[in-house]
Amino acid sequence: MKINEIPTPAYVIDEKKLIENLEILKSVQDAAGCHILLAQKAFSAFAEYPLIKKYLSGTTSSGLFEARLAYEEMGGEVHVYAPAFKEKDLLELVRICDHITFNSVAQVKKYAAMAIEASKKLHGNPYAEQGIMLLNEPPVMPESLSLGLRINPECSTQGDHAIYDPCAPGSRLGVTFDVFKKAVEDDPHVLDYIEGLHFHTLCEQNSDDLVTTFEAFEKNFGPYLKKMKWLNMGGGHHITRADYDREKLIGLIKRIKNDYDVEVYLEPGEAIALNAGYLVTEVLDIVENGINTLILDASAACHMPDVLEMPYRPPLKDSGEAGEKAYTYRLSSYTCLAGDIIGDYSFDQKIGIGDRLTFEDMAIYSMVKNNTFNGIPLPDICAMDENGDCRLIKRFGYEDFKGRLS
Ligand SMILES: *Cc1c(COP(=O)(O)O)cnc(C)c1O
Repeated sequence: MKINEIPTPAYVIDEKKLIENLEILKSVQDAAGCHILLAQKAFSAFAEYPLIKKYLSGTTSSGLFEARLAYEEMGGEVHVYAPAFKEKDLLELVRICDHITFNSVAQVKKYAAMAIEASKKLHGNPYAEQGIMLLNEPPVMPESLSLGLRINPECSTQGDHAIYDPCAPGSRLGVTFDVFKKAVEDDPHVLDYIEGLHFHTLCEQNSDDLVTTFEAFEKNFGPYLKKMKWLNMGGGHHITRADYDREKLIGLIKRIKNDYDVEVYLEPGEAIALNAGYLVTEVLDIVENGINTLILDASAACHMPDVLEMPYRPPLKDSGEAGEKAYTYRLSSYTCLAGDIIGDYSFDQKIGIGDRLTFEDMAIYSMVKNNTFNGIPLPDICAMDENGDCRLIKRFGYEDFKGRLS
C-alpha cells in the first residue's frame, strides 16, 4: 500500500529518512571514535530497533521500562539515567544495564555499593574465581556494570526555553560543582564507585553550544574527568539537521579523548528520527464560524500532545501560513476539548470532506506521548520502506483504551 491508501489516522515511519539519519550518526560515531546511543524518550518504535542497531552502539533510558524495552528489543549497550531510582527498580536495572548514571551524591551513597555487589553476583566475580580475597577498599569494579554521576555544568545555552533547560536556576537535574566538591571533600570514597560523568543540557542545538557547555564543565570538572573512564554529553544535539556543524562536534570529541583519555558517549533522541515520520489524517467535517475549521480524525491533545505542551505548529505537507495561500482553515480535532486546535494553515485548493492531510516530523514525541483522552482511538503505526511501500506495524483498538482504566 502507498501512503495515500492507508487507513487514517496513522503514524507512518519513513525508513528512507530514518536510514539517512542513521548513516549521518554512524559517520560521526566512526569519525570521532565515540559511542552514539538512541535516547528512547522521543522515539521508542521498537519495530525499527533491529535497523537502528546496525548503526548505533545501543540505547539510553529514563527508567526501568525503557531500559527493559531496549534490552529486549535492541541489546548492545544499555544505559540508564533517572533523577532518582526506586530500590526494586535498581536491582532489576543491574541485570539489564551496563551503565547506570545517578543524579545525586545521595543516590550514589545509597545504591552504588549495592549495585556493584549485585552485578558481581549476577555476572560472576573474576577475582573470587581465582581465589583472590578482596578487601573492597577501593571497590573492584565489575566489567558488567559502570556507574556514573550526572553533573550540572551551570551553563545555560537555550535562551528562553526554561522548561527544557536542565541548567535553569534551581534545576534538580545533575550535581552542581559546589555540591560535588563539598561531597567529595566530606567523603572521598564517593568517587571510588564513579567511572563516568554525564551532563545533558542541550535541546535541539548545534555543536557551538556543546563546545560552550563542555568548556564550562571542563573548567570545574576537568581534574575529575582525568580519573574517569567515560564522559556522556547527553542529548539535544541536532546532528542530523542540515545546518548542524558536525566537524566541530567531531573535533571536540577527538580533543576530549586526547586530553582526558576517556570514552565519549552521545545520546541523542530527536536527531535519530528527525523528519522521519508523518501523521496521516482525514477531514471528517468542516465547521463554519467566522473561520472554516477542519475536523480531523487526529487530535493535538491525543496524538501530538507537544503541539499543545511546547507549544508548536507542526509542519503540514503542501500548506502555508494562514493567509499565505488562497484558502485558509483552522485545523482541529474530533475531541470535545475546545482548545484541541493544531493551528491555522492555508492551501492552494479548497479542502473538502474526505481529503487527507499529512503532518510532518511526527516520528518524535508522538507515539511515545499519545493517549486515549475522550476515548479517541490511537492511530495505527505503519512503516514506509525505501520504495514508498507502507506496511502496518500495529493497530490499536478499544482494548487499548479500556486496558489502562478500571
Ligand atoms: C531527553 C534526553 C536525551 C535525548 O535528548 P534529545 O533532545 O532527544 O536529543 C538524552 N539524555 C537525557 C538525559 C535526556 O533527558
